[in-house]
Amino acid sequence: MKKPARRLPLNKEHPASAPRAALNLMGEFVGYLLDAIFALMMLRMLYGALRSFLAPRRANPGAGTSAPQPAAVGGQMVRDPECGMFVSTEVSHRLRKGGETLHFCSEDCLEKYRSRAA
Ligand SMILES: [Zn+2]
Repeated sequence: MKKPARRLPLNKEHPASAPRAALNLMGEFVGYLLDAIFALMMLRMLYGALRSFLAPRRANPGAGTSAPQPAAVGGQMVRDPECGMFVSTEVSHRLRKGGETLHFCSEDCLEKYRSRAA
């Protein structure tokens, strides 16, 4: 990393109150400080850009939930034995078979399963 050449003209404002070396040191310190702040800002910007790039959905919560919403419907999530997807027992198409109840995502799946099992 290159040494920053920035130096505030402190020695003009305080003519003889402090030795020149100390003022130079202070100017250098302020330069480093400004550099550090600048670097931090750049890092924050980079981090923010990277985050929004890697997880664009998290940037605005609630807007991009494309997955099936298990929280929106009550009941239990059970697996449709025909197509394999999960469906809530609240909205499923049911088929009683023996002692258990099978849950299907659609009338279609239910019919397919029933015709195959018959
Ligand atoms: Zn299904």
